[in-house]
Amino acid sequence: MTRKITQRLIEGAKRRLAKHSVPNGDCLVYCRGTCVHASGLEYLQAFRVAISAKRAAYICEFGDIESYEVVISVCGNRNCVNPDHLKIDSLKIRILRQSERDGECMVWTGPTMSSGYGRTNFDYRGMSAHRASWEAHFGEIPDGMFVLHDCDNKLCVNPDHLHIGTQADNVREAFERGLVTTGSDRRQSKLTEKNVNLIRESYANGEMNQIELGERFGVSDSTIADAIHRRTWKHVP
Ligand SMILES: [Zn+2]
Ligand SMILES: [Zn+2]
Repeated sequence: MTRKITQRLIEGAKRRLAKHSVPNGDCLVYCRGTCVHASGLEYLQAFRVAISAKRAAYICEFGDIESYEVVISVCGNRNCVNPDHLKIDSLKIRILRQSERDGECMVWTGPTMSSGYGRTNFDYRGMSAHRASWEAHFGEIPDGMFVLHDCDNKLCVNPDHLHIGTQADNVREAFERGLVTTGSDRRQSKLTEKNVNLIRESYANGEMNQIELGERFGVSDSTIADAIHRRTWKHVP
């Protein structure tokens, strides 16, 4: 998100925070009671967006932060807006914490969406876990683009298994990998972009023939031939 945080916006946010915050021990608790989030996190309008009170308080005190940075309260009071109790938590770390190794994949263990993808949020906007992982590692996802899996594991958040593509790429890749089956072709290819690179290289160097490559990667030799001759995996350079 791009927004310019001016002094005037900061003053406005500070006024709103002060109006609805009450001291509680060392904490300063924002409590407007209009919380719409099941998590109990209080939001307010600041810097022209709805953001959590503690995020607004952090920005007022320390300046703007990146969208992938998450403000946490070290006192454990989720609505505390005492700047001394606030710090940045890296989304990368959160993703690591909320996933488990499964072979090469990092499988999301947090909440999921009905679509089968992991669900997380950037404090003020919900998003799927694999998209969050992409953003945490590579920056903002270009408008209208999708984050696609090399590994066919919807819950995988390993950045090495993710690439950017269009919705058309998404559908085509699903066909190529046999996720969407047509007619009698019910084999499921286990190729990934990295494998395809390796296959093309090994074949070009004469290290292995198509049958050997098929055995090595657990797919048919016609799948190998298609990948080598770029009838499939055309997007892999
Ligand atoms: Zn506190
Ligand atoms: Zn994976």
